Amino acid sequence: MSPPARDLDHPAFARIPPWAQEKLSSKAIETIKKVHHWVETECVPAEPIYKAQLEKPGQRWKTPPLVKELREKAKKEGLFNLFLPKTFGELSPGLTNLEYSCCCEIIGRVYWAAMTLNCHAPDTGNMELMAKFCTEEQKQKWLMPVLNGETFSAYSMTEPDAASSDATKINCRITRDPKDSNYLLINGRKLYGNCAWEEDLGFYILMACSDPENPNPWKRHTTVFVPKGTPGQKMVRNLTVMGYDWAPEGHGEFLYTNCRIPAANIILGEGRAFEIAQGRLGPGRIHHCMRLLGQTERAYEMTLLRATDPRKKPRGKLIGEFDSNIERLAQMRLQLDSLRLIVLNAADTMDLKGNKAGRYAIAQSKILVPDMCAKIIDECMQMHGGAGVTQLTSLPEMWTYARFVRLADGPDAAHRHQVGRDELKTAPKLREQHGAYQKRYKELCEKWGIEWQSFL
Ligand SMILES: Cc1cc2nc3c(=O)[nH]c(=O)nc-3n(C[C@H](O)[C@H](O)[C@H](O)COP(=O)(O)OP(=O)(O)OC[C@H]3O[C@@H](n4cnc5c(N)ncnc54)[C@H](O)[C@@H]3O)c2cc1C
Repeated sequence: MSPPARDLDHPAFARIPPWAQEKLSSKAIETIKKVHHWVETECVPAEPIYKAQLEKPGQRWKTPPLVKELREKAKKEGLFNLFLPKTFGELSPGLTNLEYSCCCEIIGRVYWAAMTLNCHAPDTGNMELMAKFCTEEQKQKWLMPVLNGETFSAYSMTEPDAASSDATKINCRITRDPKDSNYLLINGRKLYGNCAWEEDLGFYILMACSDPENPNPWKRHTTVFVPKGTPGQKMVRNLTVMGYDWAPEGHGEFLYTNCRIPAANIILGEGRAFEIAQGRLGPGRIHHCMRLLGQTERAYEMTLLRATDPRKKPRGKLIGEFDSNIERLAQMRLQLDSLRLIVLNAADTMDLKGNKAGRYAIAQSKILVPDMCAKIIDECMQMHGGAGVTQLTSLPEMWTYARFVRLADGPDAAHRHQVGRDELKTAPKLREQHGAYQKRYKELCEKWGIEWQSFL
């Protein structure tokens, strides 16, 4: 039987490079087309509806009815949880990271489209974590409701009183309840993690210090489930990001005072938070980057329209007729297509060699994509003139998203630090290689009768 036709003559594949197209299965090709249709018909035209529903009195922290309806529809159409990699067996819809990356860029065209498909942060990273590290019983209790779209989850690691980019410094405490060792008490402060006002939020996955005296700093921390609203958990305030409340999920600052949870809520075991954190360093880390590409493509498309808008003709010329803007548009196009290669390469490296071996490619993506996307969107705002920084376009929100991804999931400086340290480790080998050049240079000097000179 001949394999099904691989019809890639579709706008969804227009910017996917040939080497990546070659790797897409027939099933993935169909899924990518479906996702494209979904975002173009259900999400892009509905952007003003989403905003209007959130602005209705009493609706700010509720999942908009539009999104609820789309989530039900997506489930029926087999578009739910596309992010879960093939390695998760029957739980996974069967896409590789590379294939999902192609879907994710399309999803990113609308910020909230990910939520309609249950592919939004931080739930994607959390679901991967739960699928990997939870017992069967825990999976039934915590993972399945999120996978089934019945509740949302949050991740809580960062603290206002610690440099959280170095997770060994996390100092919110978990202790056994002296009255009943089957229970744990949490005490401390946390920054970020979804806003508790989010109606559909069910629980937090929280990392805290359980054994501060352990000589091994990597064994001092424990990860637990904390149901939202557990007595002793208080949201101090909603954190705005660059002035936006980011409703309906939002972000919060939290205070824990003797917050009591069952010891059965420990994930993997006491002192094993870093094993879990390592496991969370996989594809979830670059989903933001994948989506940012889609969003920046939208900003770019809007700018092409602006550049050719006949109502806007400074000095009698279209904005896109000025040489400086033609070059600007070319530069943005080149940068966007280069960023896509970086993201697809990171996804493919994880598929071929695993998440650990993909560390460099993931860092490359995490460092370069948000930074460059923010710069591209900044240029787009500039070409839109005054309107570009107002609510008349979605460019300010797009820029804010790109800007905050430079921090979320670890600041880019920390990733650069790691890449730089790894690079320095290559110096001894290079020194050997350069020693060999010197040796050979001496031999060549003798052969050709040229005086040897030292060089650095
Ligand atoms: C929108 C948004 C959403 C977030 N969501 C969550 C969430 O859901 N859950 C959660 O737990 N956290 C979340 N965070 C927090 C985020 O993960 C942390 O802010 C980040 O890891 C940095 O930790 P920190 O704020 O403690 O900064 P610090 O660790 O104090 O770092 C501050 C700065 O120091 C510099 N620095 C740090 N390390 C190095 C290094 N190795 N080399 C050079 N310079 C360095 C960098 O400039 C860095 O930005 C979110 C952040 C944002 C902006």
